Amino acid sequence: MKKAIILAVGNELVQGLIVDTNSKYISRELFNVGYETLLIKSVPDDFDLLVYELKDSISRSDLVITIGGLGPTEDDLTREAVAEALNKKLVFSKNLSESIIKKAKAFYENVPEIINRQAYVIEGAEIIENPVGTAPGQFLNISGKHIILLPGPPSELIPMFKKAIENLRELPGFYMRRVKTVGIPEVVLVDEYKHIIYSNKNVNVATMASHKSGVELRFTGPVELKDVIDNIVKELTLAIKDNIYAYDDSTIEEVVYKQLLESNMTVSFAESCTGGLLSSEFVKIPGVSSVFKGGIIAYSNEVKINLLGVRLKTIKNYGAVSRECVEEMSKGVAELLRSDFGVAISGVAGPSGGTPQKPVGTVWICIYNVRNDVHYSQKYNFRGDRNMIRSRSVLQAFDMLRR
Ligand code: ATP
Ligand code: MG
Repeated sequence: MKKAIILAVGNELVQGLIVDTNSKYISRELFNVGYETLLIKSVPDDFDLLVYELKDSISRSDLVITIGGLGPTEDDLTREAVAEALNKKLVFSKNLSESIIKKAKAFYENVPEIINRQAYVIEGAEIIENPVGTAPGQFLNISGKHIILLPGPPSELIPMFKKAIENLRELPGFYMRRVKTVGIPEVVLVDEYKHIIYSNKNVNVATMASHKSGVELRFTGPVELKDVIDNIVKELTLAIKDNIYAYDDSTIEEVVYKQLLESNMTVSFAESCTGGLLSSEFVKIPGVSSVFKGGIIAYSNEVKINLLGVRLKTIKNYGAVSRECVEEMSKGVAELLRSDFGVAISGVAGPSGGTPQKPVGTVWICIYNVRNDVHYSQKYNFRGDRNMIRSRSVLQAFDMLRR
């Protein structure tokens, strides 16, 4: 694969005042067009340091992307630094100046003269139009190596980056397959199935684990290896079919949504320790109202009892974190909200509240199917902090619902 380096420019980034989400986005997207990101660096607004990092990055990679520092103020130095690193001139473009001033009139009553700093173009660069703000991007091809300058605000960067990589797509073909899994820890997966996953050393394997989306495997290689890569995915599917939920961009909640939609079924949620997170993740999908009735945050025992009809006896005998309790909760919510499925989650999210019998991370999840009056319950022991336990519970609940 070709190599890329991303330089995120700005004191705010180095000082930890803002989180560099742009680089993560770019790195993910680059992978899809055949670039591996070697390095992501945050560089302060320091001209000499920026020039140094630029020269170093250009020498090590096929593509360097800079983020930020394209504004009109004195501390925006990226244009100047790239010109210096490449030993090229900055040329004032009258056309560009006119279009920037025209745009700037929407933001300022009297457009400050200083805005013209954005009208300087590095010799030989192509301009990438900014559909939102005034700072144009720049695209350079220096004897086969590419340098792309993008502004910092994500709303500007994302569409401009998409535009810029259209130019890169025509690069030598490569082939990629993705396999998204849930339920098998990353280390176990890559160890137990290494004979499949790493069966061809010319296929690049990337694994990504997240408590929100499970473990994703990506197999990449030149197009000539298409059959080999397809075969790896086929073998892996035979081995862990039930754990695979997608081969594309789909999230697990989208998979659940599509399944419910196709089978014309509805669902409702009763959430204790996840406190609405399950519902919140689900309603991120536009159109989910056709399958999602609603949810009850049954955090206290009173709500479990009074709203969902959990019996006092159940809580007394087994506790709120128990098979018995989630079974009654899921049935209760499905009946109350008249859905085909009821999902209930009750667990100990911590950091306090654990007991030797039910340590922090103990979570019971139940799916109740109204049509055949069947409960499907499962106990989990999740690791991690409070929020990780909550997101893992959500992931598992969607996974149980999907099956
Ligand atoms: P502007 O004309 O808006 O100044 P710019 O190209 O100079 O554009 P910056 O000044 O570096 O961009 O950044 C503007 C804003 O964009 C920052 O305050 C920040 O909110 C956001 N931003 C910058 N870099 C990043 C990044 N790497 N990830 C996420 N957001 C970022
Ligand atoms: Mg700026």
